[in-house]
Amino acid sequence: MNRISNEKAVSFSGKKVKLAGWVSSIRSHGKIVFLDIRDETGIIQAVVNPEKLKMISDIKNETVVEVVGEIKKRPEKMVNPEIKTGSVEIGVSKLKILSDTETIPFELDETQKKINEEVRMKYRYIDLRRERMQRNLRKRHESTQFLRNFLSENGFIGIETPILTKSTPEGARDFLVPSRKIPGSFYALPQSPQQYKQLLMVGGFEKYFQFARCFRDEDVRADRQAEFTQLDIEMSFVDRDDVLKLVEEMYIELVENVFPNKSIKEKPFPKISYDEAISRWNSDRPDLRKDKDNPDELAFAFIVDFPMFEKFDGGFRAEHHPFTKPKATPKEIRKNPEKIKSFQYDLVLNGAEIGGGSIRAHKPDMLKAIFEVLGHKEEEIENKFGHLLEAFNYGVPPHGGMAFGFDRLLMVLLEEESIRDVIAFPKTGDGRGLMMNTPSADISPDQLKELSIKIDHESEN
Ligand code: ASP
Repeated sequence: MNRISNEKAVSFSGKKVKLAGWVSSIRSHGKIVFLDIRDETGIIQAVVNPEKLKMISDIKNETVVEVVGEIKKRPEKMVNPEIKTGSVEIGVSKLKILSDTETIPFELDETQKKINEEVRMKYRYIDLRRERMQRNLRKRHESTQFLRNFLSENGFIGIETPILTKSTPEGARDFLVPSRKIPGSFYALPQSPQQYKQLLMVGGFEKYFQFARCFRDEDVRADRQAEFTQLDIEMSFVDRDDVLKLVEEMYIELVENVFPNKSIKEKPFPKISYDEAISRWNSDRPDLRKDKDNPDELAFAFIVDFPMFEKFDGGFRAEHHPFTKPKATPKEIRKNPEKIKSFQYDLVLNGAEIGGGSIRAHKPDMLKAIFEVLGHKEEEIENKFGHLLEAFNYGVPPHGGMAFGFDRLLMVLLEEESIRDVIAFPKTGDGRGLMMNTPSADISPDQLKELSIKIDHESEN
C-alpha cells in the first residue's frame, strides 16, 4: 500500500490507507489513545487501542511513525474545524515506529512562550517543523516562483553570475577567499552582481534577472544578514519610469497572487523626492500606512532624486554606488558635487527599504568624473574598474536596474520581526551558524600552508 498525505485522507472516508509523520501530541484516555500525526500537509487524529498495539508506550512527541487503518468520519460534535482533516480520523490497525526520538529541546506549539533564539538556531531542523516556519518557507518558495514567472513572461532571462569574484563597491566590507593556485591573492564574494549585470547589458542581453546571493561583512541586525538574497534586475534602453513601472506591476501582482489578504494603500505607488521625504518625515524610508497597527495594509512608495554624493571622511562617497547616472554633466559634477542629484531610486514598504537601483552612467567620461570626485587615484580606477571602463568603450546601451532585498521584503509581507524567520538557515548577530558551528577554526596546518596563510594568534580577539 502506498502512503498518502494527511491532507488527502479526507477524501478516503471508509477506506483503508497508510499515513506517516511525526507524532505531535499524545492523549491517553485509558482504553484508547489519541495521537496527532503531523506531515507537511497538516495534522490528522489517529485512534489507537493500546491493548492491541503495545508499542504505543514507546512513542513520544516527535517519534516518526507509520500507521495503517481506516479513515472514519468523526461524529458531528467531535469535528475540529481548526484543522483541514478535522472531519475525519484514522482507526489504527497497524503501527510502526520509523524513527525514535530523544525528548526534543523545545515545544513546537506556536502558542508557547518565546523560545530562546540561540536554541532555535542550534536545533534549526526541529524549529523548521513549526507551522510558522513551514508557512514562511512555503510562501518564500511561492513568491520566488511567482516572480520568476512574472519576469520570464516579461522577457527577462535568468543568468547566474560568479560567486568567486572581485570587490564591487556597495559600501560594506568584503568576504575574502584565498586562492591556492595564485598564492597571496584573494577572490571577494559579491556584495551584489552589479558590475556583472551591467556587463551583461554590454553583452547584448536586454533584460536580466537573478535571485542572487550577496555577501556583506557588516554588523547583522534584525533586518540584515551578512549573507542574503537579492532579486536583481537590469534592463537596457530604458529610462527611470520604465524600470519603476515594471517594478510596480510586479509587486502589485505578487501581492494579489501570493498575499491576497493584504491590501495596497496607494496605486500607482507614490513617487516622493528624497528632499520631500527628508523634510516631511525626516527619513528616506517613511512609513506611509494610515494605521500602523493594521498588518494587512501595504504602503509602497518610490523615493527618487537622491543626492549623487554624500560627505564622508573629509571627501565624498556615492549615496548609492558610483555607477549611478548623475543629473549633471561631468564638468558640473567636478565643480559642485554636493549639489548634484542622481537617477537613483529606492522602493520602500511600510517604513522598510526593500529595494534600490538607478539608471547607470554608461559613458566612460562620466564614470571617470564620478571616480575622481570619490577621490580614486588613476591607478586605483584602472585596477578596480578598468574592465568596466574598457567595456564601456565598445558600444554600451543606456541601461538601468534595481535590486530588492528579498529576505527583508518577505519579512514585511509575512509580518515577522526578524529576517531570520524567513531564512531556512540564518546566522546570529555576530555571523555564527550555530547548527553547523560556523565559522570554524578547525583548519589543518597543511590546508593553511597550501593557501600560504599564517594565523597571527596575537591579534586574535
Ligand atoms: N546593486 C545595487 C544594490 O545592491 C542595486 C542596483 O543598483 O541595481 O543596492
